[in-house]
Amino acid sequence: MSTTSNPTGRPIGTPSGGRPYLAIPGPSVIPDPVLQAMHRPSPNIYAGELLDLTDSLIPDLKAVAGTQHFAAIYISNGHGAWEAALMNTLQPGDRVLVPASGRFALGWSEMAEALGIEVEVLDFGTASGWELGRVAERLAADPAHQIKAVLGVHVDTSSSIRNDIPALRAVMDEAQHPALLMADCIASLGCDRFEMDAWGVDVMVTASQKGLMTPAGVSFVFFNDKAAEARARLPRVSRYWDWTPRANPEEFYQYFGGTAPTHHLYGLRAALDLIHGEGLEAVWARHAHLAQVIWAACSAWGDISDPAQGLRMNVTDPALRSHAVTALHLPAPRATELRRWLEDNLGLTLGIGLGLAPPDSPEWHGHFRLGHMGHVNGHMIMGLLGGIEAGLTALKIPHGEGALQAAAQVLGGPTDRQA
Ligand SMILES: *Cc1c(COP(=O)(O)O)cnc(C)c1O
Repeated sequence: MSTTSNPTGRPIGTPSGGRPYLAIPGPSVIPDPVLQAMHRPSPNIYAGELLDLTDSLIPDLKAVAGTQHFAAIYISNGHGAWEAALMNTLQPGDRVLVPASGRFALGWSEMAEALGIEVEVLDFGTASGWELGRVAERLAADPAHQIKAVLGVHVDTSSSIRNDIPALRAVMDEAQHPALLMADCIASLGCDRFEMDAWGVDVMVTASQKGLMTPAGVSFVFFNDKAAEARARLPRVSRYWDWTPRANPEEFYQYFGGTAPTHHLYGLRAALDLIHGEGLEAVWARHAHLAQVIWAACSAWGDISDPAQGLRMNVTDPALRSHAVTALHLPAPRATELRRWLEDNLGLTLGIGLGLAPPDSPEWHGHFRLGHMGHVNGHMIMGLLGGIEAGLTALKIPHGEGALQAAAQVLGGPTDRQA
């Protein structure tokens, strides 16, 4: 329980007063229509509504991914989709190239390594994007085409860097390199613009609990014909992870390799209705707009005489910032104190820092993240920022004035933002 309290002597927010707000970069806020759609008895899994509902998800998922090709569903979190993408395209001894700008790129490469794949990481740190010149050099130095795939994390949720997937594709095309381009859009799908086919992505992985606004536990692998051919060349793929029957089911159970994740499917149907009801372009524009509201507040908070004592965004170049997650620094241990104060007093939970300092180091308490993905709107973001302003004030953390004013100005400003 909190040691800080309001004048009545009790915490203002949790546990029973008002709705808690989980503002971490996944799982994201679950919309009421999604929760309501899941609140039902178990459906028949052999006939009837659930079968039609599942068929109806596929074109709508492909529309969000921007692909006309194949979609496979897994009952897993994002790590399962990572493994599925690797298992269906590569075998032990194959080589992959991983330009990295955060913890999630490293996580995907560690998974590849564990499968016996030779992994080459080009680590560009956690504060700037990919140096594509170095990727180009490496591809040029591979005339025998030993590199079978390039793994690119679109938004690295740890650093909150948004990488330029079309530019990576252009570098691969220029090198005339046949490697598969695989993208991790777990943090970006349904938040930041992504167009699988138009951008020349061969395999894309995502999961249910971020921009898709559904509880964790379902993941997705989208793949094109070139990736399907890579799968066909493999001597064997584990029966469970094989994407072929999942993407081309003759029987309903083959979608899932067994019993369907019944309630997730109802939730996902409602979530896709929300996304397509709003319109994907509008969803992207909303995320872009709200991200700029957050950045305006963060810039104002950081505007103090000694910026090292205050709040700072991890990514300085706005063009490299995700519209779904923002990684922030405060001098340790202030970030952890702020997170605790907000959770105890306001029922507002912010994300921990990830991959920016070792978990057992004092510096770990100098990082935190805001999730602003999926089901978020102006009043939620203003509540999030107002909460942080209250926390900075209560904890006497040095911060610049006028952050909420700056946020309000951006919120009320022109809405035709570049997504
Ligand atoms: C959340 C996330 C993952 C991991 O997903 P899990 O569902 O936790 O397994 C991987 N990559 C990115 C970019 C993510 O944001």
